[in-house]
Order: sequence, then C-alpha cells, then structure tokens
Amino acid sequence: MAVSFDLTGRSAIVTGANTGIGQALAVALAGAGAAVLGVGRSGMEETASLIEGQGGHFEGFSADLGTIAPVDSIVDAALDAFGSVDILVNNAGIIRRADAIDFTEADWDDVMNVNLKSAFFLSQAVARRMIPQGHGKIINIASMLSFQGGIRIPSYTASKSGLAGLTRLLACEWASKGINVNAIAPGYFVTNNTTALREDQKRSADILARIPAGRWGNPSELGGAAVFLASDAAAYVHGTVVPVDGGWLAR
Ligand code: NAP
Repeated sequence: MAVSFDLTGRSAIVTGANTGIGQALAVALAGAGAAVLGVGRSGMEETASLIEGQGGHFEGFSADLGTIAPVDSIVDAALDAFGSVDILVNNAGIIRRADAIDFTEADWDDVMNVNLKSAFFLSQAVARRMIPQGHGKIINIASMLSFQGGIRIPSYTASKSGLAGLTRLLACEWASKGINVNAIAPGYFVTNNTTALREDQKRSADILARIPAGRWGNPSELGGAAVFLASDAAAYVHGTVVPVDGGWLAR
C-alpha cells in the first residue's frame, strides 16, 4: 500500500503563523498541498508571500488568543475560506522568565491562557466540526518542558506539560471519531521565543553543549513531522508527543 503525505485538498488552521515555528509549519503544510488559514495578532504578509510564492493558498485571520473570545470566529473564517477544517496546529505560545519565588499571577495567567486554555478551546471548536465530517488532525506544539522541569519558567513548564497531557486525553476521547491528536516537542530552535536564552552567553553555551546534534534547530526542520502527523501516513498515530530536538532528550 502506498504511503501518502499529500495534503492536497485539505485545509489547515495554524495559530501564530506570522513568524518562527508557526510560519515554518504553515509553509510546510502548504508545500504538501494544504490551504492554510494563519491566525495571529501580527501581520502575516511574510508568510503569505512565502506560501503564495510556492504556488500555495494562504489566508490570514487577525485574532488575539490571550482569550478564547475569537475561537468560534476562527473556525467560521476557515469554513468560509475553505469549506472545511481538516487540520489544526496549536502553535501560538508565549514564555515569561522569572525565578519561581518571584513569579507573578499575571505571568502565570498570561502564559496559561495562550499556551493551554486557547489551545484547548480551539481544539474543542474544531473538533465539533471534525467529528461530523469523520476525520481531522490536531497537532499541538509542545516543548522539552513537556518532559523536563527547566528553571525560571514555571507557567511555561506547567502549560507545556499540561499540553502533553491534554494531547493524550483528547486522543483517548476522539481517536474513535476519526481525529488524530498528537504533539510535536521542538528542542531548542532559533526564534523570538529563545532570543533571551541565546543572548545569555552562559545559558546559550550550556544548552549548545547538551545538544547531540551540536547546533540549534532551524524552524523549517519541524515541517516534516507536521506534514507526517497531518497526513494519512499518521492514520494510526494517536496521543504521541514527537520530539524534534537534535537528540536533546536522548542525552
Ligand atoms: P515566537 O517567534 O515567539 O512565536 C510565537 C507565536 O505565537 C507568534 O506568532 C506570536 O505572535 C504568537 N502569539 C503569542 N501570543 C499570542 C496571542 N495572544 N494571540 C495570538 N498569537 C500569539 O516563538 P516560536 O519559537 O516560533 O514559538 C512557537 C511555538 O513553539 C510556541 O508555542 C513555543 O512555546 C513553541 N516552542 C518553541 C521552541 C523554540 O526553541 N523556539 C521550543 C519548544 C516549543 P506575535 O508575533 O504577534 O507575538
């Protein structure tokens, strides 16, 4: 039997698609044939031009995922644009750094709201469409902090560990309904999210020394895992958290 990674005719929602990992995932899914609705609070012109430049279809939708208010309108926008929602990538995420002893309620709530609460309620809204159509793929962007503790990022670790648990719960509830819920756990990638780490010479050197691949990741290197999980090739893959980490977790 031929294995298919082709996403022609599928539609995808990718949150946080203006930059970094979300942009790379949007480009990869579009490159495999999917029409993509990018969702975010910043302009997505660069992503649109990358996708349209390779002959793909991209629509942008402006929404702040700091609350769940826009969730239904995001799904409606995808349905209006493409007629269905086949793939959701919960990528939008933020990080706040401070010692646990000093961590504020605002830094707790802001991170949990974007990284976990909005991811759950957007998954719920999308699944309400996917269940009647009998198929769908949900891909959560987890982290090494879905497996490890880290330091100085308590709400980030809680949100990403929670997202791994949520991935497993949703897989258990929705696998029988034709929805594959999985996650990708990026290691250390060069994006805005890791600017502070890379500017801290000691932390940066410590991290680099621990990565078996000997370098930080490029966001485009996450595209293959996303296309796989979004495709028919992953039909029997449910509830996994796939590390793409240059070997970080193996050490
Ligand atoms: P990034 O460049 O900072 O991208 C974060 C994305 O999330 C941006 O598009 C950002 O939009 C969007 N976002 C943040 N808050 C939002 C909100 N309230 N509403 C809508 N969109 C919002 O960092 P990144 O590394 O690509 O991060 C993408 C995902 O990968 C995150 O979930 C992050 O935790 C995860 N991750 C990253 C790494 C890494 O090494 N870089 C490792 C593991 C996991 P704006 O540009 O408008 O802020």
